[in-house]
Amino acid sequence: MVVKYQYAEPTFSAKGTQMRDILANYIAVVSRRLPDDVTSKLKELAKVEVDPLQELIYDTMKENQLLAEKMKRPSCQDTGALQFFVKVGAKFPLLAELNDILKSAVYRATKEAPLRHNAVETFDEYNTGLNIGNGIPSVFVDLDGDSDRCEMYVYMAGGGCTLPGEAMVLMPGQGYEGVVRFVMDRMTSYGINACPPLLVGVGVATSVETAAMNSKLALMRRVDSVSPNANAAKLEHLLEDGINNIGLGPQGVGGRKSVMGVNVVNTARHPSTIGVAVSTGCWSHRRGLINFDADLNYDLPYNKGVEL
Ligand code: SF4
Repeated sequence: MVVKYQYAEPTFSAKGTQMRDILANYIAVVSRRLPDDVTSKLKELAKVEVDPLQELIYDTMKENQLLAEKMKRPSCQDTGALQFFVKVGAKFPLLAELNDILKSAVYRATKEAPLRHNAVETFDEYNTGLNIGNGIPSVFVDLDGDSDRCEMYVYMAGGGCTLPGEAMVLMPGQGYEGVVRFVMDRMTSYGINACPPLLVGVGVATSVETAAMNSKLALMRRVDSVSPNANAAKLEHLLEDGINNIGLGPQGVGGRKSVMGVNVVNTARHPSTIGVAVSTGCWSHRRGLINFDADLNYDLPYNKGVEL
């Protein structure tokens, strides 16, 4: 017999409740308002396309965004599985409550935003109907010494844009040419599924999980950002050219540009392996960033002018 997922909201401290409510509001904002860098990149790419079909698609995206804001509805019907990438110091006062705060924030935002119910319990094959479940939302924590701050990326991982994701470990002799081949293979076979123009995140590290995490962190960077490593920056540039030349265009109907950008995140690796992974963000790339101090003052670097 399947024992269904049950959720009872915990009781939080006053500050925990405050943080939960701020985050629930912010998740709703992220669901309907694209980050500033994505909005301006879409405008820029729209100007590059000259044929009526591509123009129509970019106009439709623009109108979609205006209506999402006006009607307070999500930018896309697929509001994704929520993922949080958190950098938090040991002295942040709500560290112990953080996991529970995030789950409760998603639960609340799901009702209030509203968000689509995207939590299906694997093997038991039922939707919890709550948008949370066992291990979802996903929370990835990077400890930041004894800082009292918390910096958090909020990401809505949609089905289509998650689909091209893949990781593998290359033989060292395959070199960084192998990385290019891997990414291009993935983009030519599955890139179209992810509602282009894409943000392509490439991770390079030792193993599948370290490369995969880097590829996801690459999606958290701004679309126009450049890797601080000169060779990684060159790889970003070359991959961007290569993927644009596939000619996916907006929504895969063909066009001059396939990507909003390519971001590479690399960490040191074992000498005998090259772990590589690719993750993709779609045109409706809903990721946010919220930075809290110990008193829960916050800023929203990706959403200028937004107040929660
Ligand atoms: S890929 Fe993005 S825009 Fe396309 S359906 Fe999925 S979430 Fe929506």
